[in-house]
Amino acid sequence: MDEDQYGTCPYDKSHRIVLFRMPGHIIKCMRNYRGPPLAICKYNATHRLPKEQMDEHLAECVDYLKFHNHKNLKIGLKSRQSPPTE
Ligand SMILES: [Zn+2]
Ligand SMILES: [Zn+2]
Repeated sequence: MDEDQYGTCPYDKSHRIVLFRMPGHIIKCMRNYRGPPLAICKYNATHRLPKEQMDEHLAECVDYLKFHNHKNLKIGLKSRQSPPTE
């Protein structure tokens, strides 16, 4: 059993969802969700969390890292700086 295939639903932590089903699940779950609105990670639409936690999330977001590693292969993580504001 490969745990990596599963993720936790951002709208209900008790939902353990197979990753490839996550996008569809999130859309359904979002409709029933009654909590504060969640911000969507720019790098993976299935990553949703309160806006104030987004910086923290990006520090460990795999898709963010992939994206930036790919783009700045030579610069590497050592000199990672906050991206310019858009
Ligand atoms: Zn859910
Ligand atoms: Zn993310």
